[in-house]
Parts: sequence; structure tokens; C-alpha cells
Amino acid sequence: MSDTFFGHIIDGVEVESLDGGRFDVYNPWTQEVWAQAAEGGEADADRAIASARTAFDEGPWPRMGRVERARLIHRLADLMEERTDELATLDSTNMGKPLAQAKHDVARSADNFRFFADHQRDHVGSVFPMDSGHHTYSEFGPVGVVAAISPWNFPLMMATWKIAPAIAWGNTCIIKPSEDTPASVTLLGRLAVEAGFPPGVLNVLNGHGAPAGAALTGDDRVDRVTFTGSSTTGKAVMASASSHLAPVSLELGGKGANVVFDDADLDNAVHWAVEAIFRNSGQICLAGSRLFVQDGIYDEFMERFQAAAEALPIGDPFDPETKFSVLASKRHYDKVVGYVEGVEATGGTIRTGGVDGEGRWLVRPTIIEDLPLDAPAYREEIFGPVCVVNRFSTEDEVVHLANDTRYGLNAMLFTEGLSRAHRVSSRLKAGTVWVNCFFIRDLRTPFGGVGDSGVGREGGDFSREFFTEPKAVVMQI
Ligand code: NAD
Repeated sequence: MSDTFFGHIIDGVEVESLDGGRFDVYNPWTQEVWAQAAEGGEADADRAIASARTAFDEGPWPRMGRVERARLIHRLADLMEERTDELATLDSTNMGKPLAQAKHDVARSADNFRFFADHQRDHVGSVFPMDSGHHTYSEFGPVGVVAAISPWNFPLMMATWKIAPAIAWGNTCIIKPSEDTPASVTLLGRLAVEAGFPPGVLNVLNGHGAPAGAALTGDDRVDRVTFTGSSTTGKAVMASASSHLAPVSLELGGKGANVVFDDADLDNAVHWAVEAIFRNSGQICLAGSRLFVQDGIYDEFMERFQAAAEALPIGDPFDPETKFSVLASKRHYDKVVGYVEGVEATGGTIRTGGVDGEGRWLVRPTIIEDLPLDAPAYREEIFGPVCVVNRFSTEDEVVHLANDTRYGLNAMLFTEGLSRAHRVSSRLKAGTVWVNCFFIRDLRTPFGGVGDSGVGREGGDFSREFFTEPKAVVMQI
């Protein structure tokens, strides 16, 4: 419709809510309302599900050949790349992300579609000749209607991690973006129409967690629920989906450990330590929010880490110099401020950073030391630019510290020792371990978390298992 109103995309058409409800969408840098979005209610969820259901049961999408489906998905990726500036501008405006980072997210989002378009074409199943003379083969057929629910921290990219495998495997999908960031996903829905997707294959339902999101997860016409968001909401989503036995894939919160050993390449370790906690203003589930530094390099590392944090250019997301900006919403800013203001009362020291205090929704790159291990800022996910640092002496000690969390999404370790890298990686309780790097993702590998960080894995064949109904066919020949 326009760049200041984001409707639902249902059955290939952008529409208002049935009751005409809308909600305001903020620009966190200016703190002003810059757009409105349709406020999805139960009736809107109902028609989005009905559209996806009909498109699956009667439409061409699950029945069209894999090659043709891949062609359409690649066409969508082409359009995304052509409209990179527009998509990135929406994300930067909507959540305060520096524009260069938003453009990078668009590129990765388009790649997600390309990868899964090709993956479904090439990974169709296996054939096993049996000793008994039978042949058995596996078949991965589409499941039906997928409800996808995404968060605001990577508005476009998180949504595409879910939509791409869901539709590539022949399912139809309803995506509900976060109410904080409806813009880029709505444009994605418009682009799917432009690319020639049949109506109902990709529906966008805007609105809040309840009623819009909850109406999707609890509906028995929905066959799979894929969710990225907080651990608390994930539990509610799982409970709701269990009412009709819909399998769930949950990508939830994190409190990543970043371990720097004495033998690390310090330049590299400092670079990634900064990226891991201050990129996207720390609003990354994979953030290295608990940093453990070995005794022998502690002082030197901390001096360099502090200097790099203080040197990050802070400002307007549209200024090309900016590397760090505001938090995505007033609600989220208040949450992060609550943790930072509680640090000294719980025994910690703020080495650098803290609340900006100039009226912006900004918390500066913040490094905390001496925090007791039971302090809320140490144990809970802050989801902001707040790094809690601890010193350690031995490998056993740091493995114990790193694993002492209810989360288990990811961990990083920095060492030049090959044996240590393998040994410690295998001992860390985490779905992903990065050695001497961070944030690199190969879509063929499993992605997901342990404990409160999630249920299930997505990526490559792991997505295939979730978004299809695997079948064995046994033939006597
Ligand atoms: P959130 O849980 O508040 O919301 C996520 C989504 O769920 C939103 O679209 C929201 O509208 C919807 N929702 C809320 N209540 C719902 C309900 N009852 N039923 C259905 N849907 C509902 O999370 P958030 O604040 O948007 O995102 C931040 C969280 O997401 C952090 O915890 C972060 O770690 C996590 N996250 C995880 C990953 C990962 O891959 N593991 C990636 C990004 C973000």
C-alpha cells in the first residue's frame, strides 16, 4: 500500500484488518511514530490460515515441480537484491540498526531463499537396496500450513530463516513479524506477490503476540510452528501448539560464553569480542554477553577491549560512519537500563559505558567486572550492549563457568591451540561453537540451542526433517 502503512498480505492482496484496527510503528532514533501497521485480530488470523490452507490443499504450490518452485523462489531473491536499499532502509528506520548492517542482513536474507530453493531441489531422498531383495526409499513431502513467528532484532533475516525452508519444501506459510518491526517483512510479502507466488503461499499477518500470534499457534489447521523469540514466549508457543500436536521448532534466548585463552591472537579476539556483544547494539541472541579471559592476558586484553568499545562510532543509523546506535524500542531500552542500573547494587563495577542519559534510547557499549555469579545481569539475558567479564585460570574452570547457565545457544573460544580448540568445543554446552570467529553461518549445518535456548534444529537437512513429512516406501521387486 505505502511506506507508512503496512497491511496484512492475505491471499496475495494487501489488506487492512477486518475491524480496521491499526497500531503505531516507531523510529527509535527519532522516537517518533513514522508508520502504522494493521492490528491483526483473531478474524484476520482466521482468514490468513484459511488462505494458506486452501493454497496448500488446492493450489499449485505443493504440486508444482521442484524446479519451478525453485525458480519462483530465486525470482523473489532477485527482487530482494534489487530492492536492497528499500528493505535495509525499512529495518534501519524501524529498529535503529546501522544501514550498512541492514544491507548485510538483506544480502543474507536473499541467500536464505536461494539456499533452500536449491536444497529442496537437490536433497530429495535416499534409496536403499535391501539384502532381502526389496528396495526402500525415503520421500520428503510437504506438511501443510506453517505458522512462523519472528522477533524484532533482525526483522527481515530472522523471518527469512523460517519462511525460506518452509515454502521451499512445498508448504504454505503465514509469517507474523514482531509488532515492533512489521515493515520489511510486509515489503517481503509484497515482493512475493510481484515474483509471481500463487496467492496464499506466503501470507503476512501483522499484529501483537496476542491475539495475532496466539491465534496462529493454537489453530489446528496449522501443521508446524516455527518460532524465534524469548524463552518465556517460546514456552507459551509450545503449550499452545501442543493442543493440536503441531511440532514446534523454537529458537530462543541466549547468554553466550566467549572464552579467550592466553594463547589467543589478541587482535582477532578483541575484534570479535567487540562484534559479539556490540554489533546490533547487543540485540543478538548469539551475543557474547559473558566474556571469560585467562589470567595471563587479562590486563592487556581488557585495555584493548575497552579502547575498542569506546572507539565505536555512535550515532544516527543512516550516518555511514555509525557502527552503534540506539536500542529498538522504549520498552526494550527500559529493560536494559534496569539491568545496568542494578549492577553496582549487586557488587559489580562498570568499567566503561552505561546509560547514555541524553534522552536517547541509548545504552553505551558497557563492560562490567567483578559481578557475582548470581547477579541478574550475569545470569539473565539482557539482550543489549552489556558485557560481563570474568577472569579464569584453567581450562576446566572456564568450561564449568561457561556451561553454568540455563541457556545453551552458542559459545566462542579464542586460542591458537588446535587440540584445545577441539577439546573445549566438544565440552561446551551450546548449539554452535565459534573458534576464533563469530556470526559465521553455513546453512547446511544445524542451528539451534540447548536448554532454555530452544527446541530442535534448523538448517539444511534439519530443516527438511522439520518442514516435511518423511515417509519410507518399501518395494518388493
Ligand atoms: P518475544 O518472545 O517477545 O516475541 C517474539 C515474537 O513472538 C513476536 O512476533 C511476538 O509478537 C510473538 N509473540 C508474543 N507472544 C506470543 C504468544 N503468546 N503467542 C504467539 N506469538 C507471540 O521476543 P522478542 O523480544 O521479539 O525477541 C527477542 C528474543 O528473541 C530474545 O530472547 C532473543 O534471544 C530471541 N532470539 C532468538 C534467536 C535464536 O535464533 N535463537 C534469534 C533472534 C532472537
